[in-house]
Amino acid sequence: MTSNQVVIIGAGPVGLCLALSLTQSGVPVTVVETLNDANFLDQVPRAGTNHPATLEMFDRIGLYEKIESRGFRAPLFHYWDRGGPKLLAEFDHALLRDDTKFPYVLQCERIKICEEALALARREPLCTVMMDTTFVSFTQDANGIVAVAQTADGDEVRIEGAYIVSAEGARSIVRRDLDIDFEGFTYPDRTLNIEVVHDFRQYGFADRNYISDPDEWSNLFRWAGPPERWRVHFPTDPNDDPNEVTKLEALDARLQAFMPKSGPYDIRGSNLYTVHQRVAACFRKGRALLVGDSAHVNSPIGGMGMNSGIHDAFNLADKLVSILNHHEDDIVLDRYDRQRRKIAVDHTQAQTIRNKRLLQERDPAVRQKNQDDLKRTASDPKLARQFLLRTSLLQSVRDAAKIQ
Ligand SMILES: Cc1cc2nc3c(=O)[nH]c(=O)nc-3n(C[C@H](O)[C@H](O)[C@H](O)COP(=O)(O)OP(=O)(O)OC[C@H]3O[C@@H](n4cnc5c(N)ncnc54)[C@H](O)[C@@H]3O)c2cc1C
Repeated sequence: MTSNQVVIIGAGPVGLCLALSLTQSGVPVTVVETLNDANFLDQVPRAGTNHPATLEMFDRIGLYEKIESRGFRAPLFHYWDRGGPKLLAEFDHALLRDDTKFPYVLQCERIKICEEALALARREPLCTVMMDTTFVSFTQDANGIVAVAQTADGDEVRIEGAYIVSAEGARSIVRRDLDIDFEGFTYPDRTLNIEVVHDFRQYGFADRNYISDPDEWSNLFRWAGPPERWRVHFPTDPNDDPNEVTKLEALDARLQAFMPKSGPYDIRGSNLYTVHQRVAACFRKGRALLVGDSAHVNSPIGGMGMNSGIHDAFNLADKLVSILNHHEDDIVLDRYDRQRRKIAVDHTQAQTIRNKRLLQERDPAVRQKNQDDLKRTASDPKLARQFLLRTSLLQSVRDAAKIQ
């Protein structure tokens, strides 16, 4: 083996959590990130709901204490029917107080997590962070890997390591070069995200709300900011002109139809995104491993993508530490694949597909049954706790640990 370090491609939340977890256990890493210090914080708004299982992991690497004050605790979430609107069910994470030290969700945007995690990584003596460096290709043999990257000046750099981990997001070059299928489908419609300054709690909404409607379902979430703002998601028609639907007047009309108010909404931004439901056919080939969006992507309804990616990182870190520091056979990496791929398929994919279907259900009888089920679950503490164990991802971490 030429080097015992782990080369991580991508300083997103998943790559950085992996880097911190490994270096704090004595394994050296190099993180390669294409963005630079000037544009790293300019990324489009994405994840931000951090579930209890993830907060436990952040706590292990000293990240929780850094991000807590940058977001806020959200113990409650709601399901609403848009007609009315009518509150259908309220769930309170307090029911998980005997299951976790963190019986709440932390609303804290992905970019703040990346900023804090990057600062921590830079303080780790065993962590080298190469910003402004774009990964291009890699080779592997029985002894190790060599990653090839390019600096902003166009210079080629070659980085040797024992393993390479692709945390480069959904467009993973590692996955493509290894010819690993990204199995699944892409929804034809795109989701519209509107960032708006307006306190929706005055209408009875919680900090996190899922609102069902056959035509105009939505998600409504509060964020700490600055500025403190709400994120509202609506569906769009595949034939909609992106320029038209994102015009300020069109965005305002959409919000006014949802919740009429006098005067225009204070809209701070919007974007349209395509939703994929895909899982890589395998998460390991030799010395190359996939984590996070590189391994699986899903609808953001339920806030599971980043969370489950971070769970990949911690699961993989434990195995790499056992191999590199305790001489365990690297066959344990196949267990990483078995554990996390099964969770991606059976839990994350299944749950997020169900979540979208639930919100947009058209059949009145099925809608009614769904609503009755939700109400019954929320009103029975035993059922509600089981439901929360699934939505908080605590159940998926427990289930993964049982897979040999
Ligand atoms: C609107 C929206 C809302 C979402 N909300 C939630 C939520 O509430 N909760 C949740 O859990 N998930 C949510 N998600 C999903 C979540 O954002 C992703 O799952 C998460 O960001 C994946 O993290 P990652 O580190 O795997 O990849 P990324 O966050 O994509 O990071 C990849 C990193 O790799 C770098 N990179 C890429 N290519 C290269 C290269 N060739 N060389 C070097 N570096 C490279 C990128 O610059 C980036 O920094 C949401 C997604 C969207 C679109």
